[in-house]
Amino acid sequence: MFETVIGLEVHVQLNTKTKLFCSCPTSFNERQNINTCPTCLALPGALPVLNKEVLHKSIQFGTAIEATINKVSYFDRKSYFYPDSPSAYQITQLYTPVIENGKLRIDFEDGSHKIVRINRAHIEADAGKNIHDGEISKVDLNRAGTPLLEIVSEPDMRSAEEAVQYLKKLHAIVRYIDISDANMQEGSFRADVNVSIRPKGDEKLYTRVEIKNINSFRFIQKAIEVEVRRQIEAWEDGVYDEEIIQETRLFDANKQETRSMRGKEEAADYRYFPDPDLKKAVITDEMLEKYSQIPELPDQKAARFVQEYGMSEYNASVITSTKEMALFFEDMMEEGISAKNATTWLTVELPARFKSGMNVTSSPVDAKKLAMLVKRIEDKTISGKAAKEVLDHLMEKGGDIDEVIEKLGLKQVSDTGAIEAMVDAILSANEDKVAEYKGGKEKLFGFFVGQVMKASKGSANPQTVNEILKSKLG
Ligand code: ADP
Ligand code: MG
Ligand code: ZN
Repeated sequence: MFETVIGLEVHVQLNTKTKLFCSCPTSFNERQNINTCPTCLALPGALPVLNKEVLHKSIQFGTAIEATINKVSYFDRKSYFYPDSPSAYQITQLYTPVIENGKLRIDFEDGSHKIVRINRAHIEADAGKNIHDGEISKVDLNRAGTPLLEIVSEPDMRSAEEAVQYLKKLHAIVRYIDISDANMQEGSFRADVNVSIRPKGDEKLYTRVEIKNINSFRFIQKAIEVEVRRQIEAWEDGVYDEEIIQETRLFDANKQETRSMRGKEEAADYRYFPDPDLKKAVITDEMLEKYSQIPELPDQKAARFVQEYGMSEYNASVITSTKEMALFFEDMMEEGISAKNATTWLTVELPARFKSGMNVTSSPVDAKKLAMLVKRIEDKTISGKAAKEVLDHLMEKGGDIDEVIEKLGLKQVSDTGAIEAMVDAILSANEDKVAEYKGGKEKLFGFFVGQVMKASKGSANPQTVNEILKSKLG
């Protein structure tokens, strides 16, 4: 029996206005090499100046993961030669990172949870982009020098699911505190996955393989699964030592396999040394005081929802899993509906009607509208079943809820007079069955209910129908 061991390195692009060491904008520019200056082009003589906003965002993150925030940290040069880095080194923090020893909680469906330790988070500069266009390769340096926070976990995850839960939680946190837009497709939240296996019960760490830059949660899950399978097979075939080496691999989603990309560099290859152009990065008490005031985090929000609305811990973790979903829920609750109904309609019925790529932010039915719909069920204007039809219509064609209910003829009739008339009509049209019922064939009751509902085209309030039938049949 084997156990999977996973540690994650996540690069989060910080949403500062300007770059890490110069005043070039970090905003998207369609034209290549426009957001550049002598500093981020690494022209001789240009000197870096640290952007304080990067320290502010680091403090916010350190606070969110309850970490040690180093009031003094340093920058180091990591040498590497690639066209996307004009200086031929990356500025990073090897020896003294800004953040150390944090933690993050992940929740499971069975109500249990686990704490994953975060070893460190350090500031570094992003590279530019190499664009391969047929025979030609081009370099765009708009992104060069953009600030990143690299967040390194301990090897605490034990399955692909745990790794994905960790990433989703981290993703949620950086968005809650607004230090990054964390868009995976656009590369502002990039995960490198370190995977190894070991016989269950063994405490030592075996050889890890690093899978680079996978841009969706689904692919990360898949990449881990296929890599674990490869390692177990190698072990079982007796070729583990030859085949599983410390290296960087790429995940090929089409072939569902990982492939060797390059051997793992040793630290010595990078020839790290302290950056002589940068002084220490200092966090003052005033900065610490100001930026450790952060908004309510997913765990705190979830705990509050459990308290205030009596929902399960797991449901609370699902609703708080993204900032947008949590805000949507809170907006729904403002309309005074039950938390249970709000949860069901938000987490089950609404997403079931999303077109591909749609989410609560782009949904044509917003929080107020969905809450209104729930309200119409709660005030018995429509049945739950009819509400699903109304929601279908709203998602497809939009419109005002009450008008749609009217138009589709879904208004529930609770008016006793009208229902009584229908009941009378059904009973007199079925005198033989009424006699049978009175003679003891009680299961005919369902037949009468069905007939009345049919006569009302489904609009009668079933509870009222039941009550009236009961009193008429004695
Ligand atoms: P580097 O910076 O050279 O990639 P680190 O020592 O910082 O190396 O580790 C990188 C990541 O690999 C960390 O997230 C760590 O938890 C993880 N890791 C280390 N050893 C293992 C292992 N045997 N199996 C899985 N993950 C591991
Ligand atoms: Mg690494
Ligand atoms: Zn610049």
